Amino acid sequence: MSRYFTAELAALEPYTPGEQPQNRQYIKLNTNESPYPPAPGVAGAVEQAAAKLALYSDPESGALVRAAAGWFGVQPGNILCGNGSDENLMLAIRAFCSKDRPLAFADVTYGFYPVWCQLFGIPQAVLPLKEDFTLDPADYYGLDQSRNVGAIVIANPNAPTGLALPAEALAEIARRNPDAVVIVDEAYVDFGGESCVPFVRRGDPANLMVVQTFSKSRSLAGGRLGLSLAPEALTADLKRVKYSMNPYNVNRMTEAAGIAALTDRAYFEQNCAAIRATRAQTTAALRRRGFTVLDSSANFVFARCPRLPGGELYRRLKDRGVLVRHFDAPRLADWLRITIGSPEQMQGLLKALDAVLPPQD
Ligand SMILES: *Cc1c(COP(=O)(O)O)cnc(C)c1O
Repeated sequence: MSRYFTAELAALEPYTPGEQPQNRQYIKLNTNESPYPPAPGVAGAVEQAAAKLALYSDPESGALVRAAAGWFGVQPGNILCGNGSDENLMLAIRAFCSKDRPLAFADVTYGFYPVWCQLFGIPQAVLPLKEDFTLDPADYYGLDQSRNVGAIVIANPNAPTGLALPAEALAEIARRNPDAVVIVDEAYVDFGGESCVPFVRRGDPANLMVVQTFSKSRSLAGGRLGLSLAPEALTADLKRVKYSMNPYNVNRMTEAAGIAALTDRAYFEQNCAAIRATRAQTTAALRRRGFTVLDSSANFVFARCPRLPGGELYRRLKDRGVLVRHFDAPRLADWLRITIGSPEQMQGLLKALDAVLPPQD
């Protein structure tokens, strides 16, 4: 930190992204990317868009907004595009929380939520998950009064556990917090979660919004594209913040990639189905080896090895060319988050596991 860095942010602990190694070739199961390429139409669409790079992108991403409105069955006024869903989440937290309106979230969830709180000077209302990593919706009732929260953010399915709540449970949390906004982070919903988008379609509850990403189920992590789906009044609030930070937040090539991805429903569904099938096989194979594996609704599994500490297993796998995610955090140290890759990649994982694990008794 230089002596010029603002004292206000001296304690800021930035988000640590999963490793993106540039040297060695790994079986890369650490950042929940798709093992499958983007939809076949994406590359050509990006190339066409690149020819117009001298011109600014459409700040409204109008063509993409219309395509997404069609896909989700909502109005264009319900949608805001983001530079990754991280940007949509950040805009929402900036819009609805402040130094006297905390953000509520679980103790075990996406690690970026507390970082935005620190960056914007927003207090955190952290609510522990139960021992088995499930979330009790009742813990979230009335937080608008009891804790004066401005917003509640819940990843559903949750990360890194993969556990999901029914959509109705999220809607009930919103009804029980009429003076706060409930942000449902649906980064993994396409792999088996139940979406809250139908509530946005109805505009009821009026304080419920959804954030989705193209990074996981649409194979566009490197394109950086996310969406928020929210009642029009909330979307207008999000736009006020966006136009105060980065009006051209979605570049031309990414907008074109997003539209192309949304025109190929069959390809999308085929990939999601493949991930679900591979997830079932991987879960069973890990359980046969004595692992505890949570029932995942996402494109990863959260697993605990009975015979080695999480950090040790992570390192041994890495030495064998398999990269998974280990969180050196209080409740998570014994666990690994393993992305579901292609069947061949998962065979590679199992082979490495069998080489590094001590024999079962
Ligand atoms: C991956 C992920 C995101 C961010 O996705 P981007 O669209 O790539 O920014 C947001 N929330 C959760 C829970 C995620 O796992």
